[in-house]
Amino acid sequence: MKKLQAPRGTLDVLPQDARRRLKVIATADEVLSRAGYEPMETPVFEDTEVFARGVGESTDIVQKEMFTFEDKAGRSLTLRPEATAGICRAYIEHGMHKLAQPVKVWYAGPFFRHEAPQAGRFRQFTQIDAEAIGSDDPSLDAELILLLDEILELAGTGPRRLRLSSLGSRDTRAEYLEELKRFLRAREDELSEEVRARIDQNPLRAFDADHPGTQAVMKEAPLLLDRLAADDAEHFAAVRALLDMAGLEHELDPTLVRGLDYYTRTVFEFESDRLGAQAALGGGGRYDGLIEELGGPPTPGVGFAAGIERILLAAGDVTPERQPTVFIAMAKPDSGRLAFQLAGLLRREGFRTEMEQAGRSMKGQLKQADRVGAYATVILGDTIEVKDMSSGEQQEASSPADVPSLLRSVHEREASAT
Ligand code: AMP
Repeated sequence: MKKLQAPRGTLDVLPQDARRRLKVIATADEVLSRAGYEPMETPVFEDTEVFARGVGESTDIVQKEMFTFEDKAGRSLTLRPEATAGICRAYIEHGMHKLAQPVKVWYAGPFFRHEAPQAGRFRQFTQIDAEAIGSDDPSLDAELILLLDEILELAGTGPRRLRLSSLGSRDTRAEYLEELKRFLRAREDELSEEVRARIDQNPLRAFDADHPGTQAVMKEAPLLLDRLAADDAEHFAAVRALLDMAGLEHELDPTLVRGLDYYTRTVFEFESDRLGAQAALGGGGRYDGLIEELGGPPTPGVGFAAGIERILLAAGDVTPERQPTVFIAMAKPDSGRLAFQLAGLLRREGFRTEMEQAGRSMKGQLKQADRVGAYATVILGDTIEVKDMSSGEQQEASSPADVPSLLRSVHEREASAT
């Protein structure tokens, strides 16, 4: 029979890793909640149009990487490749512009891109995202960058680089793109075939090319940062000044291109040397035209997305934390009901409790107690004994109700010994 496996590019997250993920999400919750970001969730699939219009028809994501399917009524649906477009769709649908602005939300969940799988790049991956919608105040751009930096720091990713740029307004960008296209056409013979084929569709991608000829041409290319309108330049300077004030170093990178069309003004990305080719831990930017593009009122917004798989990869292996555990062993086979009842009682009292559930011998049960890291084992036989697993000392409990206080004293002894 054919062996069944998880689909290509997807990951089974086994318990130890799953717990680490939950911790990263809990850290994000803590950091973002302190800054007023509330959790919010949208569906894992949306009408394909949300991404086609939101992310942009000419992007690699929409052209090549979406998992798109038809439902039984023939509607085109897509597994979300990113979060912002869906959140903006929901913001419009629920009239959230009527709430006090900015609306600050965050979420964590699965995203899907049909990319070639490699280290740090999956077809299903998990992102933490945060968005601040309804204000173009530069303090929001700086705030989100600093919050992401704090989450990455607390998650243990180690040193990282922050690349920062501004894409200006849509108009400036459109004029600049025409200028760049003219420049690329004039030097067409020196460019890679791929870049040449996409001059009209996505000339910015030329900055990302690996091809040496293209790279040489791009050294002389006009830069959008030099073309910013006065108010955009001022906005960018304000963001940078706030980051400087907070002491967060950043590299100005005028060639920073993000793979989504909706960005305006600030764009940023955090990279780690620990990650190899897929170096981005997370990034984001401002999307002041997106909500209007999706049919809402003109509304500015800014956000970030960070990949949990990449965060954990950069953080490296860590020994899992042992949680103080109690084990219930049975010296007599007919103690099963009492063990079950006592486990319930201890759990309700707040003890992390495991019990024998695989028919082991007494020796096997004590070995299992060690395996789960129990500091105490309750042995049910003719009497109820509480065994301190480090000293081996045993104390008799007068009744099941007496067990919690004996466990507490063992735990306190352990805690003061370490
Ligand atoms: P993006 O919206 O493409 O900038 O993605 C934001 C973040 O999500 C990236 O910085 C990565 O950490 C993560 N990410 C994006 N695509 C993938 C992928 N295919 N596999 C794993 N993580 C990803």
